Amino acid sequence: MNRIATLLTVVALVCAAPVRAADWMERTEAIMGTRCYVELWAEDPEKGNDAIDAVMAELRRIDDLMSHYKPESELSQINQYANQRPVQVDKELFDLIKLSTHFSQITEGAFDITYASVGYLYDYPHHVHPTEAQIRETLPAVNWRNMLLDEEHHTVRFEHPGMRIDLGGIGKGYAVDRGIDILKARGIQHALVTAGGDSRIIGDRMGRPWLVAIRHPDNPNKVVTRIPLKDSAVSTSGDYERFFDEGGVRYHHIIDPRTGHSASKVRSATVLAPTATQTDGMSKTAFVLGPEKALEIINRMPEYDAVFVLPDGQVLYSNGLRPAAPRPAGAPPTPTAASSARP
Ligand code: ADP
Ligand code: MG
Repeated sequence: MNRIATLLTVVALVCAAPVRAADWMERTEAIMGTRCYVELWAEDPEKGNDAIDAVMAELRRIDDLMSHYKPESELSQINQYANQRPVQVDKELFDLIKLSTHFSQITEGAFDITYASVGYLYDYPHHVHPTEAQIRETLPAVNWRNMLLDEEHHTVRFEHPGMRIDLGGIGKGYAVDRGIDILKARGIQHALVTAGGDSRIIGDRMGRPWLVAIRHPDNPNKVVTRIPLKDSAVSTSGDYERFFDEGGVRYHHIIDPRTGHSASKVRSATVLAPTATQTDGMSKTAFVLGPEKALEIINRMPEYDAVFVLPDGQVLYSNGLRPAAPRPAGAPPTPTAASSARP
C-alpha cells in the first residue's frame, strides 16, 4: 500500500512539473502613459520571460529620459532652461530631437515637436483648451527651425522664449524600435512590440502574416480594414485617442503647428514602414496637411505606405496598398506589392 502511495506521489510530481515547451508569451504594462504590449514566440519560456522583462525595462528607461511629465527628465530640463542658454543632453536624446527635425522637413512642418509651445495649454482629461488670444500669443514660439542644435556639444537652445518641445509624437515609436533591437539581439524571430498607437513586428506569426486591424473612429469594436504584415512597423494616429467634444468641436491631441488647433482633416491615419520611429513620425501628417498632400508625400517614398480614414468614412490607400488595376482580357497576371499587401 505504501509502495503504491509512493508511486502515485512520484507520478503526481512528474505531472505537476512545469512543461518547458516553446510557446507564445505575452504581457501588457502601463508605461509612457499608455498601454505597452509585448508578444513573442519563445523556444524557452524562461528566456522569453527575461526578454519581455528587458523590453519593458527599456521602455521605462526611455520614458525617464523623454517624459515631459517628469520634472527631472532631460526633456524637462530643456524646456526649463533652453530659452536662456544651450542645454547639454544625452546623445540619445539629442539624436532623437535631431531626427524629429528630419520628419519636420519631409512633412513640410506638419510634424513639429515645438507644437508643445501651444500644446501644453490643452488638458484633455479636464476638458481645457486655450482661448484664441492664448493661441495668438503662444503660436509664434512654434517653429522647429528656431530650435538650435549643436551637434558637437549635444546642446539644444531655443531662439524663442516661449518655446517648448514634446516627443509624444515620436518617442513611443522610438521606444518600440529599441525594444525590437533587444529582442533581435536575443535571437527572437517572431514578436510584436506595441506602445500606444505604435507597433513593430519581427517575422510572421508562424507561417501567416500578423493581422493589424484599423478600427472605426467612432466604434472601437468595428474594424474598418485589416492589414497583413510581417517584419514591419505600423502606427495609427486617431482623433479618438485623447479628446473631448465641446460646442460641436473635437479637441484632440494632434495639433496643427500652423494654427495651434486640433488638426481634423482625417479621423485616423495608419502608416507602414520598416521602423516604428518612421511610422510614428509620419502618422500625424495627414491630420495636418490633409489626405491628398500626405499621400503625395508618402507615395514619393518607397519605404512608406498609408491608410487614411476620412471624416466622411471614406478609406484612402497609398499606391503600395491599392488593389491592382484590372488586367485587359488575356494579359498575363503581374504580381505586385499592391495586390499581395492589400487585405
Ligand atoms: P500615440 O501617443 O498613441 O502614439 P500619436 O502617434 O498619434 O499617438 O501621437 C500623438 C502625440 O503627438 C500627441 O499626444 C502629442 O504628444 C504629439 N503631437 C501632437 N501634434 C503634433 C505635431 N503636429 N507634431 C509632432 N507631435 C505632435
Ligand atoms: Mg505614436
